[in-house]
Amino acid sequence: MSDSVNPATIAVSAGRPTVIGEPLNYPIVMASNFRGEAGEYTRTHGTDGWIGLEAAIGALEGGRAVAFSSGMAAAAAALFALAPKVLVLPTYSYLGVRALVDDHVRQGHLQVRFVDIAHTAEVLAALPGADVVWIETPTNPTLDLADVPAICAAAAVAGVRVVVDSTFATPICAQPLADGATIVIHSGTKFIGGHSDLLIGLAIAADDAVYDRLHQTRLVNGSTPGALEAFLALRGVRTLPLRMERMQANAEQVVTRLREHPAVADVRYPGWGAMVSFVLAGGAQAADAACRAVRLIVPATSLGGVESSMERRQKYAGDAHVPPGLIRMSVGIEHLDDIWADLAQAITGPAQA
Ligand SMILES: *Cc1c(COP(=O)(O)O)cnc(C)c1O
Repeated sequence: MSDSVNPATIAVSAGRPTVIGEPLNYPIVMASNFRGEAGEYTRTHGTDGWIGLEAAIGALEGGRAVAFSSGMAAAAAALFALAPKVLVLPTYSYLGVRALVDDHVRQGHLQVRFVDIAHTAEVLAALPGADVVWIETPTNPTLDLADVPAICAAAAVAGVRVVVDSTFATPICAQPLADGATIVIHSGTKFIGGHSDLLIGLAIAADDAVYDRLHQTRLVNGSTPGALEAFLALRGVRTLPLRMERMQANAEQVVTRLREHPAVADVRYPGWGAMVSFVLAGGAQAADAACRAVRLIVPATSLGGVESSMERRQKYAGDAHVPPGLIRMSVGIEHLDDIWADLAQAITGPAQA
């Protein structure tokens, strides 16, 4: 564990073996079971490889973490663990989470109250009688912010538990457990892994009983992380603060330049983090043309990798409400001049010439 409260130090030092003679890093344990009569089985008992990742993320978030096979497995585990009958859900949350909730609703397990999560008064009005409020902040893809402390405070009074999908914020930019959240989830596939080479999820709780429920959920549902994925995700954690620093510095400059660009009608940026959404004045056609014209920036879905990537979001049925020309960009760690040169040539391309 770490003696520091500084995330840059925690990320490097947490989740390592501490006994003299042990290796600096937990090994990748490629075994489903263990010799002997104790009945040790990986799904039940976990491996040292998971423990390192969970210790590091737990330390960064100020709670205890359970690693899952994907972000969606972590989201599903949060619902399974808290078993709400009435859920307050952002109308525009991550598409996979909405599909998961829709499925529960269709099966008659769950009732949903949809809210604009950035509209705090609307969220608070939906709390009485609910069991869980689901927060995603910044929101995807319009990057609005929810008032997590205010929602948590009101939820505590109303006896409502709070799940925060903090994937876009990362454990570096936000620690929602300190604001009173019950469970924080991450798609570790994104910034935590950081190299677009794995799927993993994390759920973190400060309360021991909630942690036990999450742990039990993984065991009974079998949504276990892979050994290699856990190792790579922890390797990602080691540089997460450094990557975020560079990505954020790049994102701030990209935002400044986009705001001055004549082809850009609107720029959405919460003021921190690496996600930037902007609307091209030329609409869907201009945005599609820009996504085809990029050479360095990767035209792809997903986010949070070292490489800059972007995509037009309104093409997804679940994002039909966003402006047709909205491009969501995940700003990477490349040199700013190269990112901007590529973006500028792409958005001022033939369509505008
Ligand atoms: C990607 C993502 C998820 C789902 O994570 P997977 O690792 O793809 O299963 C959940 N929430 C948000 C905000 C995401 O971006």
